[in-house]
Amino acid sequence: MPKRPTIIKVAMPVPLDRLFDYRLPADLPIPDIGARVSAQFGSRRMTGVVLALAENSELPASKLKNLVAVIDTTAVLPTSLLELLRWTAGYYHYPVGEVLAAALPATLRSGKPAEIETTVSWRLTEPGRGSDPQQLKRAPVQQQLLQQLQESGEILNREQLEELSANWRNAMRGLVDKGLVEELRETVKPKPAGEPVGGPTLNPEQAAAAESINAANGYQAFLLSGVTGSGKTEVYPAAIDRQLAAGKQVLMLVPEIGLTPQLVARLQQRIAQPVLALHSGLSDGQRHNAWLQAATGEPLVVLGTRSAIFTPLPRLGLVIVDEEHDRSFKQQDGFRYHARDIAVMRASRERVPVVLGSATPSLESMHNVASGNYSLLDLTIRAGGAQLPRIGLIDMKQHSVHDGLSPPLVTAIGERLDRGEQSLLFLNRRGYAPVIMCRDCGWIQHCPRCDAHMIMHRQKNLSRCHHCGSETPLPTACPGCESTNLKPVGEGTERVEQALAKLFPAARIDRIDRDTTARKGALEQKLKAIHDHQVDIVVGTQMLSKGHDFPMITLVGVLNADQGLYGVDFRGPEHLIQQVMQVSGRAGRAEHEGEVLIQTWHPQHPVFQALMTHDYGQFVEAALHERQAAGFPPYTNFVLLRAESTAPVKALAFLDQVAKIGTGLAAQYKGVQIFDAISAPMEKRAGRYRAQLLVSANGRGLLHQLLNHWLPRIENLPDARKVRWSVDVDPVDMY
Ligand code: ADP
Ligand code: ZN
Ligand code: ZN
Repeated sequence: MPKRPTIIKVAMPVPLDRLFDYRLPADLPIPDIGARVSAQFGSRRMTGVVLALAENSELPASKLKNLVAVIDTTAVLPTSLLELLRWTAGYYHYPVGEVLAAALPATLRSGKPAEIETTVSWRLTEPGRGSDPQQLKRAPVQQQLLQQLQESGEILNREQLEELSANWRNAMRGLVDKGLVEELRETVKPKPAGEPVGGPTLNPEQAAAAESINAANGYQAFLLSGVTGSGKTEVYPAAIDRQLAAGKQVLMLVPEIGLTPQLVARLQQRIAQPVLALHSGLSDGQRHNAWLQAATGEPLVVLGTRSAIFTPLPRLGLVIVDEEHDRSFKQQDGFRYHARDIAVMRASRERVPVVLGSATPSLESMHNVASGNYSLLDLTIRAGGAQLPRIGLIDMKQHSVHDGLSPPLVTAIGERLDRGEQSLLFLNRRGYAPVIMCRDCGWIQHCPRCDAHMIMHRQKNLSRCHHCGSETPLPTACPGCESTNLKPVGEGTERVEQALAKLFPAARIDRIDRDTTARKGALEQKLKAIHDHQVDIVVGTQMLSKGHDFPMITLVGVLNADQGLYGVDFRGPEHLIQQVMQVSGRAGRAEHEGEVLIQTWHPQHPVFQALMTHDYGQFVEAALHERQAAGFPPYTNFVLLRAESTAPVKALAFLDQVAKIGTGLAAQYKGVQIFDAISAPMEKRAGRYRAQLLVSANGRGLLHQLLNHWLPRIENLPDARKVRWSVDVDPVDMY
């Protein structure tokens, strides 16, 4: 007989990248690998995940603690997912215990049983329906509940009962004993969407794309590209159906579900099996049940945002990442993973096809097509017969501009109003004005905690920093010269909205940005108003560029198109063209021809030339050449080490030490380059001074080997505990 393992190696949710040994007391069952256990860590009791069983530990027996409890005897994390998570922890150099914890829903993290929760409700029995509450005079709570049940349609659930009486449990037991009420237990499962509705007949390109995906045998990566409106979203159901029919599960990632309610509804309509939408609006209980339902392996679709990539799907058949270029797939703090990249890795490990879809694919994915890693499925015509919008450039050097609006744009808006059509103005800056300046001495209001200007919010009558959230009342006088001659410089959405109201007093104008949509349901309401044509002009930020169809919008104006063109971020031009193309795609989708007017100071810039001809491919080709010449991703791999400290210089000095150690090690790793530590582009943010250190390599293998040597040395530096530092593999933001 094999010996009973006595040592359990556990990944604990703590920032230390190692496993912890615990003794398995004789009275506890042997857990599977991937099961949860409860263990004492320092002064706290925590939930960890079993990663190995052993007969002995390297630690002396006296140092070992007993496990407190075995929560699951079988794994909550299926082997394939557990292995993926371990790979992910290694790739992003993030502690494995924290990675595993991030993959679990909050309920399972806190140790709740891994069982689908049943809701309990109470229903009147036949005798209960006919019984007179007056007979229960001596049990007033029972009387009250019986009366309520009779009045309220015979069923009450726990929440309703809580509101009726604090003593409902005892009273309800009494009613059940008397045979007047019975208990109902049911599993809350999202209802299957009902009879699926057929979509349009696919055009030959769409059909060919779906066929290629369905013909994939094992792992294959596809890039499904095509201008907005070319019908990418219709290809997905065709591929999904095939998998579900074969009893498989499908994982589909989208940037933000709140912004794409149309997509969720469309998918739910098309598909007979359950579509589990995983997003931030779910309660812990809903997430818990959805996660466990997916884990059963029944055929269904998980449609979720970034973190849904870690949903257990034992019968995974297909992975889809819609809008794969979107930056929100990359987590920007803590565990800095990229859900799209993990999606490709997951598909490859589980030998299933993966489809990345976008009208404006990332340069990374385009490079993967060029190098033969991904197969391109290109949709070249707009489905449903719609034309691509006409694109015009407005050279800002030629015009005098008021409140951010050039005369040709104002004229174009007026024409739309006359014709009863809608206009959309896109401006990636909220607030009234980005700068408040003294006209007499040139003083500018800065954030006291950041290297940034305070943004004027006129309606709320305050200045606010968009980096740390600091607020002050709007200054009434200059602190330098006491002049009251203060002037807002530049414009945000609020100012443009006001200017439009003055120019077009009869027009119905609405604004969509984070300030106007903070309240739950506000965004949906506003989007509906646009659809119902209760709005003539919409001013908004990038929230508008995602996934909505507005058939009556025939004019899109892009106000501050140059933002990011000459900034510190080498991906600036890529993001700019993606945003403008996405927002342009909102125009003229139906029978109405659309026009896009772009205001720019640099009309000759290649980005705008590519936009004029709708030639994303032309932009990609030029941009990839530039990246290659400069030694930037996707031709090299970047890792960014960041540090921050409340004291100036400390973070930079720390990274200097880090760089020194790294340079010493790098001699063995040809093709790895360690740059000098520098202050971050915005050095001070939220009261902390920040620095960064860039590492670039010609191959991932060597880079990760170096990091595996380097990071433990960094952890051991005495200063490592005096600053906050982090590792960002494949950084998306270079700040
Ligand atoms: P994308 O996702 O590429 O932006 P959509 O899938 O949203 O494009 O399609 C754009 C519009 O064209 C939608 O209104 C859609 O219903 C319609 N459409 C898509 N495919 C077809 C088709 N084969 N026949 C008719 N209409 C279609
Ligand atoms: Zn002044
Ligand atoms: Zn600030």
